[in-house]
Amino acid sequence: MEVILAKSAGFCFGVKRAVDQVYEQIEAAAKETDAKPIYTYGPIIHNEFVVQDLESRGVRVLESEAELDALMEGTVIIRSHGVPKRIQEKIERKGLSCIDATCPFVKRIHRIVEKESAAGKRIVIIGNAGHPEVEGIMGWSLTPADVIESTEEAVRFSPKEGEKLCVVSQTTFNYNKFQELVEIFQKRGYDISVANTICNATEERQTEAKDIAAKVDAMIVIGGKHSSNTRKLYEICSRECAHTCLIQTLDDLHLELPEAVRLVGITAGASTPNKLIEEVQNYVRINF
Ligand code: SF4
Repeated sequence: MEVILAKSAGFCFGVKRAVDQVYEQIEAAAKETDAKPIYTYGPIIHNEFVVQDLESRGVRVLESEAELDALMEGTVIIRSHGVPKRIQEKIERKGLSCIDATCPFVKRIHRIVEKESAAGKRIVIIGNAGHPEVEGIMGWSLTPADVIESTEEAVRFSPKEGEKLCVVSQTTFNYNKFQELVEIFQKRGYDISVANTICNATEERQTEAKDIAAKVDAMIVIGGKHSSNTRKLYEICSRECAHTCLIQTLDDLHLELPEAVRLVGITAGASTPNKLIEEVQNYVRINF
């Protein structure tokens, strides 16, 4: 089987940077005689295999703020999604060592939101409410921020008379949808400043996936089941290619392909390790 592997498949810059920082902490701790425990605030990435590997090396995941409250010592690593400002401050206030692995692109949004809200603007985040990155972004606004995800929500949204808005986006949000929602605000004449904070890594991965899916007979998307960017890749590819499947690991691959299939495309979400992508690629080349 001929395979086209997306060049942008797998770890993006921010995720690689965060995961590398955890391994660096593990290495540093191994050299110390009285090393303190290492924690990540939430799973470092949306990939259970990476998280399991880290756990086997002694890194524990803090699942809630209550677990952070209970900590007396150790190093807490903030993942690439970032956290609300008050969580970062709490880690520092408790005297824990804080390693901020927030992706610099997400950090940029925190700075915009903090600055613009301080200047009196109402913050609107285009993104998925409840996503940890969005919750983190909200936590840097000095005033309550709104999250808008759909056309209906954008239509329903109505600012107060004379209110200035600052619109930012979750880094992994779909670019076309973002444009569509911003246009709704612009057509209504709202006083808005827009910061397109969608990360290029996401856009490039989405565009490349779409191009590949349009020319292959079957498309495989690899990624964690809780990863929103993986789900979006799957949606985009499904629109171009009827034989699109989403798998977490090679074990999930049960593709039943018609005889005529000659070309298979592969892409993967931002949290998918290279090792997994290679495994799937080799398997498809040899066994299909
Ligand atoms: Fe950073 Fe972009 Fe990766 Fe998000 S997708 S972690 S913003 S590089």
